[in-house]
Amino acid sequence: MPPINICVVGSVNLDLNSYTDRLPAAGETIHARRFTTGHGGKGANQAVMAARLGGAVALVARVGQDLFGRDALDHFRAEGISTTHVTPTEGASTGTAVITVDATGRNTIVVSAGANGLLSVADVEAARSTIESARVLVCQQEVPSEANRTAMRIAEQAGVPVVFNPAPVGAGVPAEAYPLASVLCPNEHEAALLTGLPVRTPDEARTAGMELLGRGARTVVVTLGAQGCLVVTRERVEAIPAPDVEAVDTTGAGDAFIGSLAFFLARGEDVFSAARRATQVAAISVQRPGTQTSFPRVAELSASIV
Ligand code: ATP
Repeated sequence: MPPINICVVGSVNLDLNSYTDRLPAAGETIHARRFTTGHGGKGANQAVMAARLGGAVALVARVGQDLFGRDALDHFRAEGISTTHVTPTEGASTGTAVITVDATGRNTIVVSAGANGLLSVADVEAARSTIESARVLVCQQEVPSEANRTAMRIAEQAGVPVVFNPAPVGAGVPAEAYPLASVLCPNEHEAALLTGLPVRTPDEARTAGMELLGRGARTVVVTLGAQGCLVVTRERVEAIPAPDVEAVDTTGAGDAFIGSLAFFLARGEDVFSAARRATQVAAISVQRPGTQTSFPRVAELSASIV
């Protein structure tokens, strides 16, 4: 079988997690009970998920010329992800998320975009042939929007479908990005922020999805946490319930969903079938702790999912 080429343009972060009894006050030094690091960044997460399902994934990203950047590159290679277009950047740090979690689960998070903020139009142009030969392009909003839009335009001209995850919503989505999205995939909070409408139920997601179709997206998939997702096209709307599982940690569930959706679309499934399978994969991820550590590999999945 020919390789299932997927190109992800996006962010790479290292998560630095301190587990404390309570959150520190300003000026205070406290001791953590435990410390962990984790690979993160929406682009990296989605790339890893697609690769674990068997995709031939290329990542277009920037990391710093630092320990975290070298570690990220080693990690991508170990996951079988092409790093040709992951550029170590002089004078910039790798993106980080410094997270403190207290005994009650409350957290504070300080994100430093670092090298992610330097991903440029030229970086994306250098990856033109990789984008053009992909079966699906995946973008999110943790890198500069000009870089994203360049990638989406290259994909559109080459007839490559684009999965666009408008996260984090921040200042919204540029109007010209909607028509470039073959599949726009927000979660319920993002869909609500983008439309100004309440999005708590599949019915409400349908109204928001229609509004987003009106802005030019060709298909909208709204993820709804434990309620699953809603797929909205002009011809058909389908609510896909999530399996009833005991969730221990939903961090990264959205990225597990997007990476899986991209893989199944790249394999040739229609968006309804791809979203049903992605719902099953994401449900596995919520039953395990961590972000990428919770993402299953293809060998662990039942034949009904893959
Ligand atoms: P996160 O920010 O936690 O990574 P998200 O808010 O972007 O996630 P969600 O809509 O919460 O995304 O979850 C994505 C998908 O993961 C859902 O569409 C669903 O398929 C699955 N999922 C999330 N939570 C659960 C759950 N409690 N049980 C089963 N599946 C879940």
